[in-house]
Amino acid sequence: MSSDAGTVSLVGAGPGDPDLLTVKARRRLDEADVVFHDALVTPALLETCPASTALVDVGKRPGPDGERPTQGEINRRLVRAARAGRDVVRLKGGDPYVFGRGGEEVEFLAAAGVDVEVVPGLTSAVAGPAVAGIPVTHREHASSLTVVTGHEDPTKDESALDWEALARTVSAGGTLVVLMGVGRLPANVATLREHGVAPDTPVAMVEKATWDDEYTVIGRLSTIVSRATDAGIEPPAVTVVGDVVSVRDRVIERAESAGSAEGADTQSRALVPDGGRR
Ligand code: SAH
Repeated sequence: MSSDAGTVSLVGAGPGDPDLLTVKARRRLDEADVVFHDALVTPALLETCPASTALVDVGKRPGPDGERPTQGEINRRLVRAARAGRDVVRLKGGDPYVFGRGGEEVEFLAAAGVDVEVVPGLTSAVAGPAVAGIPVTHREHASSLTVVTGHEDPTKDESALDWEALARTVSAGGTLVVLMGVGRLPANVATLREHGVAPDTPVAMVEKATWDDEYTVIGRLSTIVSRATDAGIEPPAVTVVGDVVSVRDRVIERAESAGSAEGADTQSRALVPDGGRR
């Protein structure tokens, strides 16, 4: 490449709140000529970019005209912009390497000889539960964390996920975090139950974590599907399955303080105060 070629920074935007950008991400955004961003990057965050920066939305939008550029097109646009001497930020929700196709883009850019770096971001898999009062590990509740995509059909033979193994992990006290899991929530919950996960296992769904309209719904494996339906949970949402969800009850100030301490049923009730928000 010629020495006046630009660079590409693959930057993690975090879950949405601009204050949760890393210092390095902030610096890259302030210095960029052009920012190619995904649909998950919030308007609040994009508004913090300098007015002179070109913002290009390459994210998927719902609706009939919601075609997004293919991954190949995005890759080629990034290369073209860098070769034209522009400093490019490729901005992705959360962390670029957690279900963000960042790996594919970096491989393509490196193969094209583009100067590329990665700026990791706060993944929603950890930050989403955290802002809702749920630590994904806890010495008394969970010693392992598994992050999966919920988008795979759990009933198809060639599923890339071993749901039996996932169920064992949860039954052994591990935390399971599911991204992209709203659509297939009923199928995934049914599969976990078929593989023996206890119906009273606590489950949380955190929708639009750190956005202005963040919303959390709490239930158990046996109730979360109806609770999510009643609450109208929509993507993006992160689902947490495991005992750590019960910690929230002691972390978040409760609307109702009545009888939270004893027994699964009482605890289940105490975990519900969010229920009235929608
Ligand atoms: N790279 C991203 C994940 C991309 S996959 C990351 O590290 O966070 C897209 C999925 O991420 C969504 O379907 C949802 O499950 C989750 N997600 C991303 N941002 C979110 C947010 N602010 N609140 C809740 N879930 C979010």
